[in-house]
Amino acid sequence: MSCGTLYICATPIGNREDISARAVRILKEVDLIAAEDTRHSRGLLDFYGISKPLVSYHEHNKYERAEELVGRMLQGKNVALISDAGTPVISDPGEVLVIMAREAGIPVTSLPGPCALITALTLSGISARRFVFEGFLPMENKDRKAVLDALRDEPRTIVLYEAPHRLRKTLQELKECLGGGRAVCLCRELTKIHEEALPATLEEAEALYREKEPRGEYVLVIAGRSPEEKQEEMRSSWESRSPEEHLQAYMSRGMTKKEAIKAMAEDFAISRNTLYALLMK
Ligand code: SAM
Repeated sequence: MSCGTLYICATPIGNREDISARAVRILKEVDLIAAEDTRHSRGLLDFYGISKPLVSYHEHNKYERAEELVGRMLQGKNVALISDAGTPVISDPGEVLVIMAREAGIPVTSLPGPCALITALTLSGISARRFVFEGFLPMENKDRKAVLDALRDEPRTIVLYEAPHRLRKTLQELKECLGGGRAVCLCRELTKIHEEALPATLEEAEALYREKEPRGEYVLVIAGRSPEEKQEEMRSSWESRSPEEHLQAYMSRGMTKKEAIKAMAEDFAISRNTLYALLMK
């Protein structure tokens, strides 16, 4: 007996019309639909006249349920995976099931469709040529700080997901880490009646939401660090100390004088000869 297929099906992120004809057909044809929240998905499936058996597949049963679903597919059943909104696996359950299905030699195919990060990126007006997607920032302060620190010098556009109750804290931390002047587009209620894509600086966004209550789910599209911003930061950092003080600071990190001058030359884009001349003065 040949085994079934796992279909990863993207579903709407708000507007029910945003689902592909292929996804609707596959959802009608499969033997079983695995959904993050079966009650939530029932509404969408009823809307499209889909009445297949539903099983839950969420963060808390992802290992046991994946094993069970793999077993069903090995017996020849076709399974579709959907999440509450958008593309499964993207900040949603699904990864474990895909890995286990592939390991078992089950064909896996993905039916493309809505994804909040792509929707936000395309309407933000911020460069979409190169970007990094961080999903939700970690909850733990230490882990958040590590992620934010790693984003400080990121030259590519940064895309984050955020829930309304954490938006204020996130905007404040982003402002502190990336600087208030950085461009951001706050995208909320995408594809819904009150869709909004608000362009601002991080400073403006943080001030706005200090007054205004965040509502709905957000995607933050943030401009990457420009070469000019980096140059400007380096220039003011250079001017904040004398050349000797910079040298001492570098050497206090355990570098020899020669290594410190080499590192300073690279960091501040100053030739080594110029640095030696300045230090001799
Ligand atoms: N798998 C989904 C996707 O493909 O985009 C993401 C699921 S994740 C659990 C939910 C987050 O996606 C929300 O907190 C929000 O950041 C973002 N999101 C989902 N739908 C959205 C919408 N209509 N407008 C703005 N953001 C949305």
